[in-house]
Amino acid sequence: MNASKVHVIGVPWDEKSSFMRGCAGAPGKIWDAFQCESANTCSEDGRDLAGPSTLFFRGNMQLSAGNVAMAEISDQASKLVAKGVRPIFLGGDHAVTYPLVQGIAGAYQELSILHFDAHPDLYDEFEGHRYFHGSPFARIMESGLVNRLVSVGIRTMNPHQQEQARRYGVEIIDMMRFDSRKPITIDGPVYLSIDLDVLDPAFAPGISHHEPGGLSTRELIRTIQSFEGTLVAADIVEYNPHRDIQNVTAMVAAKLMKEVAARLVSG
Ligand code: MN
Ligand code: MN
Repeated sequence: MNASKVHVIGVPWDEKSSFMRGCAGAPGKIWDAFQCESANTCSEDGRDLAGPSTLFFRGNMQLSAGNVAMAEISDQASKLVAKGVRPIFLGGDHAVTYPLVQGIAGAYQELSILHFDAHPDLYDEFEGHRYFHGSPFARIMESGLVNRLVSVGIRTMNPHQQEQARRYGVEIIDMMRFDSRKPITIDGPVYLSIDLDVLDPAFAPGISHHEPGGLSTRELIRTIQSFEGTLVAADIVEYNPHRDIQNVTAMVAAKLMKEVAARLVSG
């Protein structure tokens, strides 16, 4: 397997969305935006990502209804990394991240997560739900799957999640302190998880939870390009086509996918 090959895999699962569904329809729309003739297929460092030699869309995971989908997501992610694939997973809502990390964490020593989100997603449970899209990082941290969790762009902390962050040693870089010129450094392999609602809804309206006061697209791109660490896998989640305006958010997601792919290729 060509080590520079990046595979894109859709994870069309939104059963765990708490407010509105729609993210299951995201992966194909993001891939269509990447291929849209209005833009080219290069990352900003001039690398052409088109064609099967670099960025390859494997289509969507086949998933059953109900919680069994989590084991299926985990299993398929694990098989991919066992083959040496460097994956970009397109959600789906953020509930997919727990089974994805479960699937790949075994392949890497000391995996850390760099997480972009308006929300910390650390709820122990919400109305009895432990696997909904506001809980993935609670499940990941209590399972001891990763070394560090660095959460960037947070602007919805409540007392329960502050307590959870303390309990699990989550490093929160909230919007009040975020500065894209300050480098983020993570030793060892890094899993990048991008919830598109980290962006200000002015830049990315096609999401379920509009939370004003977020990053600009430029700030997010700069941070992806500049963090120090070895990227091994990534997800881009929470794109909701039902909420989008003229595919603007699909184009943002595709742009981020290109910048993430460039990092995956360069190691
Ligand atoms: Mn999230
Ligand atoms: Mn969020």
